[in-house]
Amino acid sequence: MEDRPPYRLPRNVVPDHYSLVLMPDLANAAFDGEASIDVRAVDAATEVILNAAELEISEARFTSEGEPDRPATVSYRPEEEQVVLVPHTPLQTGNYTLFLRFTGQLNDLLRGFYRSKFRRDNGEETWLAATQFEATDARRAFPCWDEPDLKASFGVTIVADEDLTVLSNTQEISSISLGNGKRRVQFADTIKMSTYLVAFVIGPFELTSPRDVDGVPLRIACVPGRGALTGLAGDAATHALRFLRDYFSMPYPSDKLDHVAVPDFASGAMENLGLVTYRETALLVSEDSSQDERQRVVSVIGHETAHMWFGDLVTMRWWDGTWLNEAFATYMELLVTDTFEPRWQIWSNFGIDQAAALATDGLRASRSIEFPVGRPDEVQDMFDVITYDKGAAVLRMIERHLGEDNYRRGLHFYLDKHRYSNTDTTDLWDALEVASGQPVRTTMGTWVDQAGYPLVTAELSSDGHALEISQRRFLLDGGPDKDDQRWVVPISVRYATGDGALGHEQLLLESSSTTIELKEDPAWALVNEGAWGFYRVHYSDELRRRIFASLAELDGRERLRLASDTWAETVAGVLSLEAPVELWSLLSADRDPDVWWGISGGLGLLDLVADDGETAAVAATARRLATGVFSSVGWQPDQDETPRVARLRARLVTLLGTLGADPDVHTEARQRLADADAGRTPLPPDLATAVARVIAAGGGAEAWELLYSHYKNAATPQDEVRYLDALGGFPEADLLRRSIELAFSGEVRSQDAPFLVAGILSRRDGCVVAWEAMEKRWDEMLDRWPPKSLQRALESLPGLAAAGDEFAQRVFSWLDSHPVGLGERRVQQARERLAINLAFKRRVAGRLNAVLGTD
Ligand SMILES: [Zn+2]
Repeated sequence: MEDRPPYRLPRNVVPDHYSLVLMPDLANAAFDGEASIDVRAVDAATEVILNAAELEISEARFTSEGEPDRPATVSYRPEEEQVVLVPHTPLQTGNYTLFLRFTGQLNDLLRGFYRSKFRRDNGEETWLAATQFEATDARRAFPCWDEPDLKASFGVTIVADEDLTVLSNTQEISSISLGNGKRRVQFADTIKMSTYLVAFVIGPFELTSPRDVDGVPLRIACVPGRGALTGLAGDAATHALRFLRDYFSMPYPSDKLDHVAVPDFASGAMENLGLVTYRETALLVSEDSSQDERQRVVSVIGHETAHMWFGDLVTMRWWDGTWLNEAFATYMELLVTDTFEPRWQIWSNFGIDQAAALATDGLRASRSIEFPVGRPDEVQDMFDVITYDKGAAVLRMIERHLGEDNYRRGLHFYLDKHRYSNTDTTDLWDALEVASGQPVRTTMGTWVDQAGYPLVTAELSSDGHALEISQRRFLLDGGPDKDDQRWVVPISVRYATGDGALGHEQLLLESSSTTIELKEDPAWALVNEGAWGFYRVHYSDELRRRIFASLAELDGRERLRLASDTWAETVAGVLSLEAPVELWSLLSADRDPDVWWGISGGLGLLDLVADDGETAAVAATARRLATGVFSSVGWQPDQDETPRVARLRARLVTLLGTLGADPDVHTEARQRLADADAGRTPLPPDLATAVARVIAAGGGAEAWELLYSHYKNAATPQDEVRYLDALGGFPEADLLRRSIELAFSGEVRSQDAPFLVAGILSRRDGCVVAWEAMEKRWDEMLDRWPPKSLQRALESLPGLAAAGDEFAQRVFSWLDSHPVGLGERRVQQARERLAINLAFKRRVAGRLNAVLGTD
């Protein structure tokens, strides 16, 4: 017997090719199916085990040329989502075709083969069907060997109502009317690929006419009435396909590429080969959507298109390698976006993603990027900020260290060597070692195989001519690191020499400490130049004084990281609150929007932990910091301003109008929306979200009705989400209760409701209201929301710091007695953050008026 856990499939019989026929009945939420699977019996077999979940198999038989049919008995192992076929006479080594006839349900849970609903312009509700198979839900649509290394080719045929559009991974090769109102659509065979990448959508979709991207036809699909929102997607998808093909020096691995917006979609998008599916906000935007919204569309398209090679053509052997797919696609989306629109300065923006990853990875409940996945469901824990953002940050760090050309050459080796096949993470490190001649495996191992990251401490030597550098793990709770972890840290230092020139030093810190010689005692020294390194820097008081005095020498991402490191050290109790407050004042004329993201984050936490008598001082501080730079930016965009200025304006309006409680900003926001509604002056797109949030922060039932009516009459998917989310931003408990009622009313899509509730939970005014509703509706959230949505909403738990220790105890004991199962790690992280916020509150509440100064 092989030594194999029960949830893994044996390899005695493996698939080569699937011919699938699926016949969905949208009105009755069911489907019939047939599969003819060419299999190879590697050994003689008395039983064949494959995956199936919630499928009823009515017929199963094996055929082989020149031999009588071997009908098979079918038994189910529901707990393992497996089906066991026992042929009447055993299979001999050789080739067979397995024929299966089955039925299944089109579910409403946005997984497997599911139903989605939308309303046509005439108000008629219309169904469509779509698939979402990653990680292990292909088995809900057809019986299959549902493990990523059991690659096969797929020939899909769909029988559907005549008037519906049917799409799958490859080009349509025939479409035959059956005369009964149905049509049989057959698609070309796919390349050899994993089951989780198979996809089909069936519905009244509108398609753009195909663009010929150097021989690959590319289309955007959406439900009727949304066609005007596909222009940017078409341009970005064309750019992404060309850019990536050139970057990898390798042709696109399929015969066509469709990008489809699905009205109900659990995640952001899914990289099915040749048929990428999206939630509408990630694909459809109007010409006058904000740059954030447009940038998101370009990024997601870039990400999914990168997966066509990295993930689809070359695939992880088992789910523990999923992180590399995702980290890599996240990294590539930045390159695609940067080359599509350099003015967005996406690499500056990346500082925010790095900061978010550093925040989570500073928790004891963080995890190593790569971890063993046993049961395939455990992979769900991998779809988080550690995989996407820490993963991409670590890849960027190694790319900076190896050099762009070496890195790119290594990627090409890797893709070329493993195409149509499966890999382990170390295969990529090996390819990068060959290309660069550097010890990539040992360096990356320290970043990928252990949780957390170092706090690099920098001190001047006594003569000032050297930096003493050391490392230890950074923990946001400020407690000791018992594990004595070490990383191989690429250190890059920039410093000022006396003659006005700059000095640079670069090295790999492999031990716990080292000394870096400098040309002279520097006016200032920045460790982690470019902020590419995934670590925080603790400066000695003297070095901190020098760098605070030289902020103009730092670029935007470096300033953001300095602010983020300073703030994290303050929350951890390493620095006193005076340090970030001083830094914020020094940065208050800063015109980098992401620096203001950092400042706003710190002020937001102060607002959560403040005593009731101190929130006015937090608000006054926000106004004191932001008013000056806002008056230089103003409300009205200049004709020729850069996208970064528009982004800055939106951040400042949001800060002043929410945390800053600035009455002038409230009035102006209401006026501007009224002007836009009356057709007098359109709202500048980049201000739309800020204006909605500020109006909510100003409060009042009339404002609630206004934002609600904007939600109901939204022209774009982004408008819908913008006004829905704004309904969570009211100060009044009764209005927040109305918003929560709305979230559960069935009027709001289950894909959007969790975000509304999470937004309320994250706020000082809303956390208790939201938590009380969540306790009441716990089972409903688990049953009705898409899988893992509750876990995601619980990431806003740290907001409950505003409710104080006693209430938090109630929350902790509720969570103790209501485990959420998969995705529990996210909840652990959120709990830890709440505990850290509460400790921070105990330290600083009562001191805020003194430290911030009162007006
Ligand atoms: Zn991805």
